[in-house]
Amino acid sequence: MGNSIMLVDSSSAAREVLTRRLQTAMPEIIITSCASASKALELIEQDRYSLITTALLLPDMDGLDFCRSIRSSKRNRYTPVIVVSSDADQRLLHEGFNAGVTDYFDKALGFKAFGQFIKSFMERNPDLCGRILYIEDSKTAATVTRQIMEQHGMEVLHVTSVEEAQSLLESARTQRVKGFDLVITDFHLKGEMTGGDLLYFLRVRMHYSPQELPVLVTTGNDETHTQVEVFNAGANDFVIKPLVEEVVMARIRSLLLVKYQYDALLRQTLDMERIATTDALTGTRNRRYLVDEGQRFLSSFENGWVMIIDLDHFKRINDTNGHLMGDKVLMALGKLLNRRFNDSLPVRFGGEEFVVIAHGPEIPARAEDLRMAVEKLNPVGIEVTVSIGLACVDDHPGDDLNTLLGHADKALYAAKNYGRNQAYVNSRGDCVKPAAQEIRF
Ligand code: GH3
Ligand code: MG
Ligand code: MG
Ligand code: MG
Repeated sequence: MGNSIMLVDSSSAAREVLTRRLQTAMPEIIITSCASASKALELIEQDRYSLITTALLLPDMDGLDFCRSIRSSKRNRYTPVIVVSSDADQRLLHEGFNAGVTDYFDKALGFKAFGQFIKSFMERNPDLCGRILYIEDSKTAATVTRQIMEQHGMEVLHVTSVEEAQSLLESARTQRVKGFDLVITDFHLKGEMTGGDLLYFLRVRMHYSPQELPVLVTTGNDETHTQVEVFNAGANDFVIKPLVEEVVMARIRSLLLVKYQYDALLRQTLDMERIATTDALTGTRNRRYLVDEGQRFLSSFENGWVMIIDLDHFKRINDTNGHLMGDKVLMALGKLLNRRFNDSLPVRFGGEEFVVIAHGPEIPARAEDLRMAVEKLNPVGIEVTVSIGLACVDDHPGDDLNTLLGHADKALYAAKNYGRNQAYVNSRGDCVKPAAQEIRF
């Protein structure tokens, strides 16, 4: 379910401009606009929105009364409401918060600022709708609770036993299908296993931390020893049955926020890692990555190869066409290497020199194919060629990555020395140009 915004304004011109601004700032957002409070309230009863923005002056209702109606609606009582006002209305400042206004935007700041304001608001106040795995053996209790959660935009998968929950959690992990953001489980269940067993499975067997997969336990009593037991088992929080809508929803939202922040941090960390290990110009991995991961990558399979690819007379290319064109040549070569060796590890080693760590008996043939592909590449209309030096682990048993790079460099030197635009293999110290039939088997 994507993010959706409802926009309420009696002026069709204003609706059009505001909608356009929102769509520009957030292209993926779905916008529904209404000219009156009554129409808006009708829609609000049917669907849940991520955010509602409204003018204060509406043709059929006072804007603040409209906000109060949103707050007592079934599906949108937690939806943020942003009032778009043309002046710093005293009533808005005094009564707005109690009426359920979340924030307001001063129209004097301009329409462009409106798009940015809402975008930033939504980034800071994420729509907390998650995928919930719900374990409850009482069908009646489950039906009521599930309905409440769904009305608040949650996607709920209900099962009646821990065994079923375990198999769903396992397939979510192994088959890489969309996992769950939150688990809600009854503590006492009729089956063989209890909520405590499920927690043990999640925390100890699957190693999910409380941030990675929060668990909310529902219990029939709040005696101290039960509370202690629930927390000791690894639950994030608990609620007492029978469930009260406001309480259970508040707990769900705060646990989804924990999960949301964990996911955002993880995404950020992965992004930073990728940026720090990627060469900005060519898109291949950088030398730092080769130093950190190259040896492990080389050792992780049989028949490993180290390949050095160096552009021929690149200095001349720069001198003739300019440095900027030289950069474009490097970009094109990086792209070609990433495409042809996406099963391997292509790296920009420095300047106009690349290293690929690869494996398999066909690597000399693939190096030769690469050389021919570069010949035909013609990046930005410039004819370029490469020389390639190769060394195989099997020819130099026991040698580490750095030593193999040295061997490949000798082969590269031979390729340059004997005329460039060719591939040479350093085989136990002899740098040879593999015969065509040898390359092709
Ligand atoms: P050879 O065939 O012997 O390899 O000759 P070459 O000219 O390619 O080798 P040399 O090492 O003399 O020159 C490499 C050139 O690569 C010099 C340097 O200015 C250029 N170079 C290094 N990094 C970059 C870069 O990021 N962008 C551009 N445009 N040029 C670069
Ligand atoms: Mg039960
Ligand atoms: Mg060169
Ligand atoms: Mg060089």
